[in-house]
Amino acid sequence: MQQEHLFKILVIGDLGVGKTSIIKRYVHQVFSQHYRATIGVDFALKVLNWDQRTVVRLQLWDIAGQERYGNMTRVYYREAVGALVVFDVTRISTFEAVLKWKDDLDAKVRLANGKPVPAVLLANKADQSREGLCSQLPKLDAFCKDHGFVTWFETSAKENTNIDAAARCLVDNILANE
Ligand code: GDP
Ligand code: MG
Repeated sequence: MQQEHLFKILVIGDLGVGKTSIIKRYVHQVFSQHYRATIGVDFALKVLNWDQRTVVRLQLWDIAGQERYGNMTRVYYREAVGALVVFDVTRISTFEAVLKWKDDLDAKVRLANGKPVPAVLLANKADQSREGLCSQLPKLDAFCKDHGFVTWFETSAKENTNIDAAARCLVDNILANE
């Protein structure tokens, strides 16, 4: 029997951290310096032939224009089963905002069994210099454990680093909840 899953995945984090770039890289295998910050919500679909009998469709929800509030509507979060929470390793303020995003997520959506939705933390723009965040990265394992993230990955949408791995890790966790 073929199994098919459709999973709603949220990609959240402050403005300019690379949410749109990560989605474009993952789904369309492209990178550009200039994605317009269109207002609203955008969707992209990624189909994964997960194993011999499982097809996974990821509906990736991008946001634009509302990031500055760090406070999305419940409608946006509804029925999500996973999240990628993104920060930019060149800007510490975007790392500080990660907990605000995680809190908003946990406050507004839960799995059917009442558990928080699995969230993977992405330290994006790993191809660039890290300034003040150098000292934080080694602590991210503990940070993830303390704040309920599945784990974290250093990613680069520019160089296509670890985006597939992060998505695979998230899907593994989602499937474990099915
Ligand atoms: P969003 O507001 O979170 O959707 O961020 P964007 O995807 O629009 O990216 C903001 C800027 O960062 C753009 O100029 C991107 O080209 C750039 N950017 C995104 N990801 C990376 C990356 O991994 N490395 C580098 N060097 N730049 C990136
Ligand atoms: Mg964007």
